[in-house]
Amino acid sequence: MMPIMNANADPLEIQKFSELAHRWWDPTSEFRPLHDINPLRLEWINARAPLAGRKVIDIGCGGGILSESMARKGGDVTGIDLSQRALKVADLHSLESGVQVRYKLIAAEDMAAEEAGQYDVVTCMEMLEHVPDPASIVRAATALVKPGGHVFFSTLNRNPKSYLFAVIGAEYVLRMLPKGTHDYEKFITPAELSQYIRSAGLQVDSLKGLGYNPLTKLYSLNNDTSVNYMVACTRPV
Ligand code: SAH
Repeated sequence: MMPIMNANADPLEIQKFSELAHRWWDPTSEFRPLHDINPLRLEWINARAPLAGRKVIDIGCGGGILSESMARKGGDVTGIDLSQRALKVADLHSLESGVQVRYKLIAAEDMAAEEAGQYDVVTCMEMLEHVPDPASIVRAATALVKPGGHVFFSTLNRNPKSYLFAVIGAEYVLRMLPKGTHDYEKFITPAELSQYIRSAGLQVDSLKGLGYNPLTKLYSLNNDTSVNYMVACTRPV
């Protein structure tokens, strides 16, 4: 399938996710980490921005793990992505589960032009480290949210420890992820992401780390942002 062309998308990245898409909802597949972290991130988001009755957009939603869970909390959720196959999987899963989400194949920048200022909550998780120009996605997320609304990002930090854990550990030692899942050079430090966020006109409210214990295979929310981390922001009124 031809990936759709967009200036701020890496066709190889989109293809990689498309090829794995049929296994998206298998909690033992390559997507296991997303299943495992989902309850943590969902509760964190919902505690800061209660989702019930809110208009939510999930940028880079993939097969819809986070999108559907936010809809279960009562959010009116739109999920966007550039992988047609991932969106197909997301649509089918939503039919099966009966949890309604609107999925759309569109770039974040184009969606921002179409529906500026319409969302109470914007999420963009585990996606920025896969795009050529993450700052442009941050600007699109900012354009989509209403003044006073909330924006959440998560990504991978860039340092020797994150290289060891996210690339060597997860892809080579634990084999949790296929080799080549992550490109170290595209990882983003909290300082860089905070800079994109502030330049876009958002305010950073909270930074949290996601810790993984390979022995217990459990994740926890903490203040160690050295590998996986999440940022909560608001758009000033
Ligand atoms: N946010 C989801 C999925 C993360 S996987 C979750 O955390 O559960 C990364 C997703 O980003 C994939 O679905 C991939 O297709 C998507 N993606 C990568 N580059 C993109 C781009 N430029 N625009 C939109 N989506 C993109």
